[in-house]
Amino acid sequence: MSKQIKFFLLAVIFMFTSFTAYTSVTAKPAYSKTLEQIYKSKDVYKDTETRLNELSRNYSSITYLFKIGQSVQNRNLTVLKVGNGPKKLFINASHHPREYMGTILTLNQIQYILEAYAANKTIDNYNIKKLLDKEVSFYFQPLVNPDGVQICVSGTPSYYFNANKVDLNHNYDALWFKEITSTYSTGEKPFSEPETQAVKALCENIEFDLTMAYHAAGDIIYWYFGQQGADKERDLAYANMLKNLTGYTLVSPANYKSSTSGFKDWCVMKLKIPSFTLEIGGKRGLSKPVEWSWYNSVWDKNRLVPVRTATQLLKQTKFNDDKKTALIFNKSLVVLSQNIVSVDGTSYISLKDAQALDFASLDKAIQEELSASRISLKGLPYLKLDALVGQLGLTCRYDKAVNTYYIQ
Ligand SMILES: [Zn+2]
Repeated sequence: MSKQIKFFLLAVIFMFTSFTAYTSVTAKPAYSKTLEQIYKSKDVYKDTETRLNELSRNYSSITYLFKIGQSVQNRNLTVLKVGNGPKKLFINASHHPREYMGTILTLNQIQYILEAYAANKTIDNYNIKKLLDKEVSFYFQPLVNPDGVQICVSGTPSYYFNANKVDLNHNYDALWFKEITSTYSTGEKPFSEPETQAVKALCENIEFDLTMAYHAAGDIIYWYFGQQGADKERDLAYANMLKNLTGYTLVSPANYKSSTSGFKDWCVMKLKIPSFTLEIGGKRGLSKPVEWSWYNSVWDKNRLVPVRTATQLLKQTKFNDDKKTALIFNKSLVVLSQNIVSVDGTSYISLKDAQALDFASLDKAIQEELSASRISLKGLPYLKLDALVGQLGLTCRYDKAVNTYYIQ
């Protein structure tokens, strides 16, 4: 080979490798389906799960995917945590099946935020790396009612309930009263449904500072459920911000009791936190899912909602107190009966909660050995968390920002 040819080949190889290196850094990750394909899919549940897995894998340093329960028909109720900061926002969609454009919207919001994070860009003039690394954790649940959405896309487009024929957004404990007709179905008691039980457990264990639920349609925002004084002022300020951003109309606080026992109602009344219901997709009611042609305008109006809400939250003076420890075991939320406590720098878990882990799988000798080193707090037996986790061959990580233990 002549010197010129060798040089030429080396130059080509160099150009090729530097080009591929360049493209691999800047190219956005690929996804198995587009958002439009997911919306038009016959298995929205499976495709949403796949997309959440892909998002979690593509941005593993800043996301955490976990399960908060299972639906009536045993589908996963999945949450993606985005960010490592101490202020916590929960955004969910599709309590009502035919309103599942909110599922697509929240998947898009997640992707938009993560792409800005990876590219070190701003959204709404706010540095997203700073926001997610240090300030905020978003918890997204794009599909509150996966069974209902599957019923909706499998030939019953007007479907409104879960698989038990309960309206999940009338199943929360906020001025709940029993009424079961063909169009209004509260369930037998508040939180009778596994889907609302899972949302309740998540909210009570993570202790969000603010929550938001996407519904359709109407281009309106519900924000009021009896708040008084400073809480009312605080929540009206958020509502006005959301109104200005989306162009949606605020629903008047008068006659707020005409619709009760919704997710937002419960957050405001029982958790005492700001909470908003956004009805996307046009000024109208719905009898079937919003046509896909509406999506671009829905996206335009709601693109900035998570970040703008988060930055307003950071300016809030009083936050929800972090009183409860959360535990996520094998990627599933565990409802603890007692907080995990720290004594002289060592973490202890109550014996009862330890038994909800794999404790029973340990042989008797090890159980006795662990029990021998147990301590008593407020009359209850506690075990050393590290020793238990070690015996089970698991690892434990404590996330101080959101007061959560992860064991897997
Ligand atoms: Zn709705």
